[in-house]
Amino acid sequence: MSNIAQGIETVKQRILAAAIAANRDPIEVTLLAISKTRPIDDIRAAIAVGQQHFGENYLQDALPKIASLTTEAPELCWHFIGAIQSNKTSDIAQHFDWVHTVERLKIAKRLNDQRPEGLEPLQVCLQVNISGETSKSGIAADEVQALAEAIGSLPRLKLRGLMAIPAATNDVAEQQQAFKHLRQILEHLNQQGFQLDTLSMGMSNDLEAAIAQGSTLVRIGTAIFGARA
Ligand SMILES: *Cc1c(COP(=O)(O)O)cnc(C)c1O
Repeated sequence: MSNIAQGIETVKQRILAAAIAANRDPIEVTLLAISKTRPIDDIRAAIAVGQQHFGENYLQDALPKIASLTTEAPELCWHFIGAIQSNKTSDIAQHFDWVHTVERLKIAKRLNDQRPEGLEPLQVCLQVNISGETSKSGIAADEVQALAEAIGSLPRLKLRGLMAIPAATNDVAEQQQAFKHLRQILEHLNQQGFQLDTLSMGMSNDLEAAIAQGSTLVRIGTAIFGARA
């Protein structure tokens, strides 16, 4: 078994154990393999053991990999998880299935306008800054509802949920507190009539805490592919 196949197996076991501990069905938790900076053969090794969801955050690095794999593995689902500048929206709208990092209406409108007609609506999460000053990315909790409502009128986008990257910490209680906050924001939106089903939260270091707090999608790089160079 390759190291990457082993990494995926280990992560799946962690997801399973965390779901059981939280009284949840492990099938509710999607494993998104974060393949940013990894060579295409690393992605192939993951595909060989059935991995379908891949996340990238550097567009120029991602596009050639997506192009090469489209013919040999058309079933793959590509998620954009990086910062989005205006001049990147066209490529993102054309080549990705999901975007986790929407935080401005202007960007959402561009993605909507540039999403090709023949494709499904782009699946979107809003990135929320739940750790205050420690991270520059994401919108404040009290801005989420207004942006969610505005995105509701964009037919080529489908708002699925929320994403966060909390401040890194090894303190499990702190990890859980941040993830709980994101879940509460999502629950509040659903009480207002939204039908959001996605909490994109949890990375290699904190996936157990995220699953305990309701994560439906964990974004895992290092624990699958090893440390990044
Ligand atoms: C790199 C990255 C990850 C993966 O982090 P690991 O700690 O390597 O699992 C997850 N989410 C985002 C947004 C990332 O940029």
